[in-house]
Amino acid sequence: MAHTLPELPYAKDALVPVISVETIDYHYGKHHQAYVNNLNNLIPGTKYESLSLEETVKQSYGQASEKPVFNNSAQVWNHTFYWHSLAPKAGGAPSGAIAAAIDKAFGGFAEFKDKFSKAAAGQFGSGWAWLVQNADGGLAIETTANADTPFATGKNCILTIDVWEHAYYVDYRNARPKYIEEFWKLVNWDFANKNLK
Ligand code: MN
Repeated sequence: MAHTLPELPYAKDALVPVISVETIDYHYGKHHQAYVNNLNNLIPGTKYESLSLEETVKQSYGQASEKPVFNNSAQVWNHTFYWHSLAPKAGGAPSGAIAAAIDKAFGGFAEFKDKFSKAAAGQFGSGWAWLVQNADGGLAIETTANADTPFATGKNCILTIDVWEHAYYVDYRNARPKYIEEFWKLVNWDFANKNLK
C-alpha cells in the first residue's frame, strides 16, 4: 500500500502571518512529502507493505533494525497531526471539555500555556511537544526527540507543536520561543476537543 501526503486542512496562506506560505511550501510540500516518499521506498517486500500508517508506526517502534521505517512513518503521522493542531481563526482560550480537562490537570489555561511553552522551548534539538491524555483520562505534557511520538506507545494525543528548526527557521530564524508564543494564535481547540476521550 503506497502512502500519500494527506491534504493540508486549509489553504497554504491560511496561517499567515504566524506561519508563512514559504514555510508551508517547505515544511509541508518538501519535508512532509519527503517522509512519505522515504517510507514508500522502504516498505516494498516487507510486512509494512500491507499495513496502515498507524500500524506501521506501532509495529516498527523500539526496534533498531526498523528505525528508518519508524522514523519516516512516525514523521508522516506526526506532521499530519501537527497540521490539524493548527487552524486559521483559532487560538485563544480553550472551550468545552478540553478547557475543563486543562483546568483539572494544570490549574488553569494560563498555567498550562506556560508549562507547555517551556516544555516546547526546552526540548533540546529536534522534536515535539505534546498534550496527551493518559489511560486514567488525565492530561499531561510530554516532549519527544526527533520522530518519537506518544502515539507509538498508545497514548491518546490531543495537540502537538513541531519544534524542529524547519518548523520555524524561515519565519523566526533561531527564535524558537517567539514561534511558540505565536503558535497559541493558531491552536485548534476543536481538534483537541475531538481527540479527547
Ligand atoms: Mn516538521
